[in-house]
Amino acid sequence: MVMLMDEKPSSAAGRPFLSLHLKCCHVYVRIYPNVAGDAYVGNCPRCAAPVRVSIVEEGGSSSRIFTAS
Ligand SMILES: [Zn+2]
Repeated sequence: MVMLMDEKPSSAAGRPFLSLHLKCCHVYVRIYPNVAGDAYVGNCPRCAAPVRVSIVEEGGSSSRIFTAS
């Protein structure tokens, strides 16, 4: 299943996401929290490499841009 990245924000208004730079294909993607809510998960849109970024408590890094290898 392929998730399009340009979907319109309808019911997902205000839903947090993470802008992620994927080194594997040099592309930016948005990933969203998983069901458990403990990590942002997604896949590279080009090579489908799995992406996971643990969600840290408030007070952590102020950066919203993360880099995954
Ligand atoms: Zn990739």
